[in-house]
Amino acid sequence: IQIKKQKFMSNRYAHSYRGFDYLNLDEQLTTEQKLIRDSVRSWVNTSVIPIIEDCAQNSEFPRHLVKELGEIGALGPHIPTEYGGGGLDAITYGLIMQELERGDSGIRSCASVQSSLVMYPIWKYGSEEQKHKFLPKLAKGEFLGSFGLTEPNHGSDPSSMETRLIKHGDKYLLNGSKMWITNSPLCDIAVVWAKNEEGHVVGCIVEREMKGFSTPEIKGKWSLRASITGELLFEDVEIPAENILPLAKGLKAPLSCLSSARFGIACGAVGAAMDCLHHAVEYSKERKQFGKPLAGFQLTQKKLAELLTEISKAQLLSLQLGKLNIEGKITPAQISMGKRNNVEMALNTARECRQICGAMGITGDFPFMRHAMNLESVITYEGTHEVHLLITGMDLTGENAFG
Ligand code: FAD
Repeated sequence: IQIKKQKFMSNRYAHSYRGFDYLNLDEQLTTEQKLIRDSVRSWVNTSVIPIIEDCAQNSEFPRHLVKELGEIGALGPHIPTEYGGGGLDAITYGLIMQELERGDSGIRSCASVQSSLVMYPIWKYGSEEQKHKFLPKLAKGEFLGSFGLTEPNHGSDPSSMETRLIKHGDKYLLNGSKMWITNSPLCDIAVVWAKNEEGHVVGCIVEREMKGFSTPEIKGKWSLRASITGELLFEDVEIPAENILPLAKGLKAPLSCLSSARFGIACGAVGAAMDCLHHAVEYSKERKQFGKPLAGFQLTQKKLAELLTEISKAQLLSLQLGKLNIEGKITPAQISMGKRNNVEMALNTARECRQICGAMGITGDFPFMRHAMNLESVITYEGTHEVHLLITGMDLTGENAFG
């Protein structure tokens, strides 16, 4: 896709962006973690910020960035180096997602899906041959992947999925459809979840050229407009036995991928919130009404102070989740809490910052509306806000309130 001449300034204060570290959390990061975060930040400044508002306004996915994401190590940072991944820890993975989402949730979504929903299941549940065949290409951005769990009739309740993978001689036949799939129209491979003859959830790798496989785009989104979304349709797609994920048994396999991705979202959302707060602080210092800067009004300061407080709490949550992740002690319910809290926080931050900047806040010269609209998807995908409340509720009470 050719990016047309840039119309919007987008992120007009991007040059002075330094993030926020009110609680000195940087002191808890290693030199390597900070270096990687800063290098992703400068890539976002040069490759994402200058084009992203136009991409979003024109609903164009900047496909050329996928290779660059590979070059900066943002695809599979937590996958072992022997398969082309970065071999990095969870905190570093979270910081990378934070910086990408400061650029745009769509760019972070592309990297999250590739890293946690395509590379992770192949690494965790795949055969050695599958790992060597697919992971290095995915890590370099030579291949784009998608992850098919959601169906037209089954979103929050994937256990009711209708897609079927049935043994047929020495092969398998895949039939059904998946909906709302990030990257699908352009993907080279899709990791797809389906039920077998016994009704157990199994996973397989579908390749672009397989007969009966198509990926129509879903158009008209008001959200994640710089990300491409579509369907995955399977009509008697012949899947060879070597494309079945041998170690994926039951729904807990795709759910474990979602845990990995949700951790990245919890960290990523903080980046979008920091971008908004930075722009609101800078503009409110510049813009004068009643003879003084907006920043000098108590009501504006209350909003800014509360936003900084919420961002700082979300950063603490992300960092602690990262530590638990590294120690191997993290639970899916803890990650769920982080995703829910931080995405809601970021969405509220985007709305409040838009309000602080008045009419100017609605334009593409500022990132608020783009982040807010993006976050409307982020609060729904990878488990809706309500589903995450139910997960924490069940963890707390032992009562299952889903059904
Ligand atoms: P539904 O499940 O129909 O829910 C509708 C509403 O009802 C929600 O508010 C929900 O919280 C509420 N609800 C449902 N059940 C309950 C309950 N028990 N109690 C209380 N409230 C309830 N999926 C993929 O597999 N791969 C992808 O790459 C992917 N990318 C996406 C990209 C975008 C831009 C979007 C928007 C979605 C994407 N999804 C993807 C799908 C996403 O994960 C689903 O949209 C999500 O799981 C919710 O499903 P649903 O939209 O069908 O909503």
